[in-house]
Amino acid sequence: LGGSLAGALARLGRATVVDDKAVADCLNEISRALLQADVRFETVRDVSSRIKAAANLSALAPGADKRRAVRNAVAAELCRMLDPGEPSFAPRKGQHPSSVVMFVGLQGSGKTTTCAKYADHYRRKGFRPALVCADTFRAGAFDQLKQNASKAKIPFYGSYTDSDPVKIAVEGVDTFRKEKCDLIIVDTSGRHKQEAALFEEMRQVSEATRPDLVVFVMDGSIGQAAFDQAQAFKQSVPVGAVIVTKMDGHARGGGALSAVAATKSPVIFIGTGEHIPDFEAFEVKSFVSRLLGMGDLPGLVDKIKDAMPAGELKLIEGAFTLGVMRELFQSMQNMGPFGQILSMIPGFSAQLIEKGKEKEGQAKIKRYMTIMDSMTEKELDNTNPKLMNESRIKRVARGSGRPVQEVVGMLEEYKRIAKIWSKLPLRDRRPNTNHRDPL
Ligand code: GDP
Ligand code: MG
Repeated sequence: LGGSLAGALARLGRATVVDDKAVADCLNEISRALLQADVRFETVRDVSSRIKAAANLSALAPGADKRRAVRNAVAAELCRMLDPGEPSFAPRKGQHPSSVVMFVGLQGSGKTTTCAKYADHYRRKGFRPALVCADTFRAGAFDQLKQNASKAKIPFYGSYTDSDPVKIAVEGVDTFRKEKCDLIIVDTSGRHKQEAALFEEMRQVSEATRPDLVVFVMDGSIGQAAFDQAQAFKQSVPVGAVIVTKMDGHARGGGALSAVAATKSPVIFIGTGEHIPDFEAFEVKSFVSRLLGMGDLPGLVDKIKDAMPAGELKLIEGAFTLGVMRELFQSMQNMGPFGQILSMIPGFSAQLIEKGKEKEGQAKIKRYMTIMDSMTEKELDNTNPKLMNESRIKRVARGSGRPVQEVVGMLEEYKRIAKIWSKLPLRDRRPNTNHRDPL
């Protein structure tokens, strides 16, 4: 889907004359791509006419950029399609009885990995999550969950011998309720294909554990199959959210549009790798940019360079040190054009500044800056957070008057942002000749 949508816009971009016919061709191609992705005919027809109305080409001033008008209208419409209106259930810290979140999806979609990522995400926020392995179908399922859970230091429950997923799920939920966990995550079996037995099992596990939220996990590369899969699960269990995995590969994640349409639920996170920290809050705008082939593009890179304060080119020429991150944070606090551009970088700010919690996010950035103020020049000039050993961390915590945990949190944030920053082709035109001494 992504390919054809992006292709349609790219062709429009290359057209020498953007006349009514070029625009109509582009819209037809977009409609075809949506139909191929199993978006319902009625929806596609609505989408197409809304794009036409929004782009409002006949009302454009002569000489106005029609390509841009169409592109913006398509992007706006896709954003609208990805927003089913209702926000999904969000677990609350310290909530008792605990929230129960059940994960469903076909085998291989990334459920078990995503359960651990989701648990770890909330653990970092101060929750007490726990994992329950109700997959008794796949050999080694419990070991896999155990391994993931141990890595993230999250308590887990499962059995090697019991083959009744409903019983294990209920026992796991009861166990962790008694242990006053506030978020219990139930991983389930996916089998090999869609089959009646799988959906019946999901229905039973759901009825027995009464989850507050059922998350449908889908592989970002499945495209057209997403609608059927999502709909089939939705018919058996009350799916309330979608997570799209494997967005680190070539997949553009177009299937997410179908999954949202089929489940009427929002996408809440995306998986961006095999490891536990490879997990990002879903940002609709950057997702659509990527879908349309506009994300991570030279356009954004140029914008970053243009908006960069004068004399700050060193921010992109050198290595991404803690000191560079501090300067980026400073720009975000200033809310000038550079700060705004930074917030457009996919994945950059969603985790730092949560939607609806802008004040808290800005305060957190300020605290991180305070922490970095207690670091030495040498420490700030370093790119290896591992070199910040325990005694250095303690010293910085004391010096800044912030808890050790927060210093560690800031260093984890650094690792995350450094990874995103390194993917931006900022240095394409200037080789990086900076070599830094180890700390
Ligand atoms: P399940 O069968 O639904 O439980 O899926 P698993 O969690 O076992 O994942 C299947 C495979 O996909 C494993 O090899 C995971 O490491 C891999 N995987 C899961 N999420 C991601 C992701 O976001 N990116 C990448 N590259 N691989 C992932
Ligand atoms: Mg699994």
